[in-house]
Amino acid sequence: MARIAIAGFMHETNCFVPDATDFENFANPSDRPGILRGERILEEFADRGASTAGFLNSSDGNHEIAPLLWTSTTPGGYVTNGAYERIAGEIIALLSEALPVDAVYLDLHGAMVSEDFEDGEGELLRRVRAVIGEDAPIAISLDYHANVTEQMVRHADAILPYWTYPHVDQFETGKRAAEAMKRLLIDGRPQGRALRHLPFLLPLNFQCTLVEPSKSIVEAAAARLSEDMLSLAYLAGFPPGDLRECGPTVSAHAYTQEEADAAVAEIAQMVALKEAEFAEPLLAPDDAVKKAMRIAASASKPIVVADTQDNPGCGGTADTVGMLEALVMNDAQNAIFGVVRDPAAAAAAHEAGVGAELELDLGGMADLDGVVPYRGRFKVEVVNDGKYQTTGPVAQGKRHDVGPSTLLSIGEVKVAVSTHRVQAHDRSVFEHFGVVLQDLDIIVLKSTAHYRAHFDPITETTFAAIAPGGHGANPVDFPYGKLRAGVRYYPLGPVRD
Ligand SMILES: [Zn+2]
Repeated sequence: MARIAIAGFMHETNCFVPDATDFENFANPSDRPGILRGERILEEFADRGASTAGFLNSSDGNHEIAPLLWTSTTPGGYVTNGAYERIAGEIIALLSEALPVDAVYLDLHGAMVSEDFEDGEGELLRRVRAVIGEDAPIAISLDYHANVTEQMVRHADAILPYWTYPHVDQFETGKRAAEAMKRLLIDGRPQGRALRHLPFLLPLNFQCTLVEPSKSIVEAAAARLSEDMLSLAYLAGFPPGDLRECGPTVSAHAYTQEEADAAVAEIAQMVALKEAEFAEPLLAPDDAVKKAMRIAASASKPIVVADTQDNPGCGGTADTVGMLEALVMNDAQNAIFGVVRDPAAAAAAHEAGVGAELELDLGGMADLDGVVPYRGRFKVEVVNDGKYQTTGPVAQGKRHDVGPSTLLSIGEVKVAVSTHRVQAHDRSVFEHFGVVLQDLDIIVLKSTAHYRAHFDPITETTFAAIAPGGHGANPVDFPYGKLRAGVRYYPLGPVRD
């Protein structure tokens, strides 16, 4: 029996949105449990949820677990120094108190950027390594959108990534981490480790593992694992992270350097050969709505359009209304749009009550190019407290509390409005208003790919639209400061000077 310390500190940082992510965002997020300490971690992840749950389920009983601290919050701007130091500091203090430990498991995202550290996870790993010394192994799980760095590969001894986007294998990822940990505890830290950065960034719209070429790549990486390897990770990266090592990577930890090098070279070569296959049409709002209406005329199921540039799951502000404007202008019928974060509109609807008509400047509060409110006369269809439980495979029964919420309508278009940001990756974000999604013609939602796990089964077809928003789909538009020179901004795209 070994003594294993576990902790989680997860954030996906979009360096190009205006609002920073502070301690309060971690302490009181609207769609996850906040900051958990000690036994509360074991209770929260007793049977399902994040990778931590998978790790605990596979390790429980075999080892003595020292639970330290676990926290995560909605993707957003830079993590403030205050939040980073307070949380990382507490993890390190708790770890020091928990010594001696035989190993550490960390549940991380891999795309955290703080005001001071462009490689938030690498810095945390460096500190953890400093506390536990050179002998105890560290296994980590990462989100598929991790920007893996040399520092992360050096301090971790196994990197277990989600293999899916939409992320439906978080629990399994934790179980794989527990398997790797089992081996680490027997055979010790591996000598072989390798990392290769691909020569291009990968826009999120091109990363979905339900379709090619990402599907074949993750399958090939999973199949390439060998007896001597602890982990082999193909990770697609998170382009809105402003760090030198941003972008897709292949990394490996193995008991021989030759094996780590060979596996990384093989998978990196495969990705490079598929560079030209990464592409998906991104339509202007008007074209997207017209296309959806054309298909809807003879479809038996709804058409889903991803309002990808305002995906709060990537740090979008969730209040841009370019797609609403396109829906109303084109007189779209039987459509729904959301979820728009607008606390004032939600409050006004609650005040006015169901059936009332309101003149509103909806959304458009973000200080972003081309983003303005939508002015119109809306009818209040539903009001509620915004508390519900998710039902789809990505969120896995999470409790959401998105604050006072309302379903409005303008013409034949319904608009879901909340007080806090929430990504529309689960049908419950609309269904808690009593909406029957299957009966609709067009669904326009603020997500990039996560929605596909839950919406695809009820969808005729789906594609993305490019309305103004904080999560630019094309990295060439991002004002990078630290990104390394020589990398292509997107597959076959221009090279950064
Ligand atoms: Zn992700």
